[in-house]
Parts: sequence; C-alpha cells; structure tokens
Amino acid sequence: MTESSLRADIVEVGRRMYARGYTASNDGNISVRLGADRLLMTPKGVCKGFMSPDMMCITDLEGRKVQGDRDPSSEMLMHLEVYRQRTDVHAVVHAHPPTATGFAVAGIPLDRAVLAEVLATLGSIPIADYATPSTKELPEAVRKYIKAYDGMLLANHGALTVGPDLFAAYYKMETIEHFAKISLVARMLGRENLIAREELERLQALRGTYGIKAPAPLCPPDGEPAADDPTCQFVQAPSGTGMRLVPDVIDKTAPRAAGSSGAPGATRAGDEVEIRLTYRELSALIEDAIRSLR
Ligand SMILES: [Zn+2]
Repeated sequence: MTESSLRADIVEVGRRMYARGYTASNDGNISVRLGADRLLMTPKGVCKGFMSPDMMCITDLEGRKVQGDRDPSSEMLMHLEVYRQRTDVHAVVHAHPPTATGFAVAGIPLDRAVLAEVLATLGSIPIADYATPSTKELPEAVRKYIKAYDGMLLANHGALTVGPDLFAAYYKMETIEHFAKISLVARMLGRENLIAREELERLQALRGTYGIKAPAPLCPPDGEPAADDPTCQFVQAPSGTGMRLVPDVIDKTAPRAAGSSGAPGATRAGDEVEIRLTYRELSALIEDAIRSLR
C-alpha cells in the first residue's frame, strides 16, 4: 500500500463512520502503520466525515510528530499502546457507535454466545474499564484486553477495533455495532437463546475460514476469573447436553415469555414455573378473588 492510497482509505473510512452515525462532530480517530516506526493518523479536532488526504499526521511509535500541519489525534496514546502490544496490527479504529456504546454505558459486555459468525471471527467483546479520554489511563485500560481481542467496548465512551489492515479494522467496528443492535432487539423481545458450549467449540474450529482470525482462543468453560484472563476470550455459553441452542438460562431475572413449557406467558426455570400476566388479567383475578370472598 502506498502512502497516498492509505491517506485516501482513512478519508473513506472516516466518511463511512460519520455517515453511519458512529461518530458525531469531531469524535473518533483512525490510524494505520506506514512503516516499521511510522504511523499515519487522523488529526485532532476534525470531523471524520469531511477529511481530506492532506490532513493526516505522521508520527513515530513514541507519538512524536514527524510530518503534517495538524496535531495528531487526542487519542493517540491509545493507538500507540495497541501497536506496541500487537505487532500483527496494522490499523486501529475508534468510534462511538450508539448501540454498542449504549452497552458500554450500561456495563453490559457483548460476551454471550448468540451469533455464530461473530463467535467464528471476533469472538466476544469485553468492556475496558472507564478511563478519562485522551489521558494515559485509556491505554492502560485497553492494555488489559488487547492481546486477546480485536474489538472492545470502552466503558462510558465508545468502541475500539484493530486489524491487519484498515478495512479489516473498520469492518470489525461495523460487526460490533450490528451485533449490539441484534442483542438489543433480542433483549427487547425478552429472550436470548444461547449457542451451546459444544457448538461454540465447532465454531472456534472454523476460525480462519472466514478470513478473520481472533488473536486468542475462547476461555475454558468453568470459572468466573476467566472473565479477566487476558490470554483467552470469555464467552457465556452453557453446555447444551446434546442441544445446539440453549434456552436463555443465564439471566433468570429478565422477563421471558413462552418457554419450553409451551404455554404462552409461562416459562420453566429449573423447578419454578414463572407466569406472566397483563395488568388487566391480574385485576380480573383480584376482582374474582374479592367476589368469591363476599
Ligand atoms: Zn472517543
């Protein structure tokens, strides 16, 4: 890739991010490796939807500006940390896509085994701890996960994706936002059936056949501490005992309709049968009960 085509690609990715609403105003930043010790990066304080190739900055891996009229991105430290930790990474994309960022604000990682293609490519998406933007806290928060993940949410901030080239990193941002939207819809519908652990292992074996290979394997099934293990990807996937999909059993507090019992409004969780009634049905039952007492 020549420098001029990389500059043009950054402009194009910025335009797509802005058009899709992943960034507002001057949010977000993009960088690519230009050589062994050179990065090409979006400048500070410009709208990513309206950049031109000449705006980009060239820095070294310490963040010193080598070329460019403008100063490098305010999130440069986060980008530098990624390149230091991952020699295989050639591009870094940061944005605030609204649905994924909503999960980051709610503190809900995208780590449930729900979408086969996400599991076969990115794996799961954790949330890096909250850090003040543009300070050195942010690279520290990212460092914890970057060895094992190509994409992560940043608590109360946004999302970060990396890849072997710019479009690979950008498409992961699209995948995360798409995954977040689907997860949100499933949760609004009241249920997320999960892919069973056994099927998850089959999907893991398919990694690479989609052209995207996650940097670390999935964590072994048992033990909560795995959620913080930086050498593997934590995924919520219960054993299916023969079934490839498992009815949502993790979040028992979430309201659910029609479970395996078949009766609308009733669902079976362990030995307890949960029944959901509308307000009108409940009022009718109470009125009936009062009437029978008279
Ligand atoms: Zn940001």
